[in-house]
Amino acid sequence: MNRILLFILISTLIACGDKKDVEDTVYFGGEIVNPTSDYVVLFKNDVIVDSAKINDDNRFSFRLKNVEEGLHHFDHAPELQYVYLEKGDSIIIRLNTVAFDESLVFSGSNEQVNNFMIEMYLNYEDEDRLVSSFYKLKPPEFSAKIDSLRNQKITELESLIIGEELSENAFIMAKASIDYNSFLYKEKYPFFHKKKTSEENIHQLKVGFYDYRKNLDFNNKSLTYFRPYYDFMLHHFGNLSYMACAENCGMEKYLDKKNHLHLNRHKMVLIDSVVTEKELKNNLFRNVAMDYLLKVHEASAESTKFIAEFERFSSNDKHKEEIAGLYRGIQNLQENKRIPNITLENTNGTATSIHNIVKQKRTTVFYFWTATQKRHFKNVRKHVAKLQETYPDYSFVGINLRTSKQQWLGLVEEHGLDKKRQFRSEDFNELQNTLLIDNLHKCVVTKDTLIVDAFGHLYQNFGSYKKALAIK
Ligand SMILES: [Zn+2]
Repeated sequence: MNRILLFILISTLIACGDKKDVEDTVYFGGEIVNPTSDYVVLFKNDVIVDSAKINDDNRFSFRLKNVEEGLHHFDHAPELQYVYLEKGDSIIIRLNTVAFDESLVFSGSNEQVNNFMIEMYLNYEDEDRLVSSFYKLKPPEFSAKIDSLRNQKITELESLIIGEELSENAFIMAKASIDYNSFLYKEKYPFFHKKKTSEENIHQLKVGFYDYRKNLDFNNKSLTYFRPYYDFMLHHFGNLSYMACAENCGMEKYLDKKNHLHLNRHKMVLIDSVVTEKELKNNLFRNVAMDYLLKVHEASAESTKFIAEFERFSSNDKHKEEIAGLYRGIQNLQENKRIPNITLENTNGTATSIHNIVKQKRTTVFYFWTATQKRHFKNVRKHVAKLQETYPDYSFVGINLRTSKQQWLGLVEEHGLDKKRQFRSEDFNELQNTLLIDNLHKCVVTKDTLIVDAFGHLYQNFGSYKKALAIK
């Protein structure tokens, strides 16, 4: 009998094992209308899980064993978006790259949480504009507005899960997409309020304003790579360190370079003492270091010291390498150095050195654009045309980022841009890492091949180059 029992037990175990294997497999597939690349790449955090080729019918599919449950993202260059996966899920998406996020629809298991999260994502884009009109309000009124926006969404989430089988983790994820965006507004409030009202000092807040801070989760591995959560953390520590340094360290009101260094050093200490989750901690350290280096972009003893401190805090070798590389990049872009020799491609498809593109003995202004940022592209076209009138001697050169060659040529044609002054690079990463393009308002100003300002701003300080650029 024992033997029979044993036999039954083993066979059920095997059966269970087989069945479980099938049940655990995740299917993720769908259709991408107007594909902008040949692949869909699936990521868990910063690690590639798998990639799938898009077939002639614009369809792709993944069949995945051993999926780590939780938030993933799929990348269809140049865009990406989140997908929440649990074992046994079968999820189909449909999207059109013309409006990537807006057109994205999930169907199948876990469609509720995924559609809810994309809805929150789109909602946030609109809401951000609305909330920016609230910052001038007094703290209690502002708080009430934000809480009411949050409550509407919580109600929507609660009605969504009635009768639906949403796992606890999926619910936590969906709720986090509401909460952390909402809390983020409150972390930003004191700074934006001061700006909008032109009050001289940071408005004093009653203790209750930050009530949600009592329940923050600094140790949630599944949220570490979730944008709203991460953005919240960045602003939260920015807020905490600013307030602490203003109160305890006698930091002056205005953030000059010296203060910036002080603040960022204190921010690292604070993150180290509060955050428990290792990856989140390292990501935040990395952000502090990047933020400091890109804002101050100075090759100096202070910067070197700051990097050494960062290296003591961080336990991520990849980040350390990256920050060291960024600093080398900054050192190469100092005033009066020769602009690094990168290769760009013109509209005829010919590769040329950037040294051959700059205007000899004169001023060249490099600006950047990408097809996906349509509003920026429109603004920059107008703005550059105006600048060209004001500075007829300068050569304004557009460098395109993250756009397929075909699309780029189409846009240059469509908008009648001067083909002699439009370039792109096959290697986006090299371009971005060499010229340190961290935002699209950036411009690089040279006189002949020598750098005047590699960290310029196309809208703000353009006039201040006048003297430096005076033709001798
Ligand atoms: Zn301080």
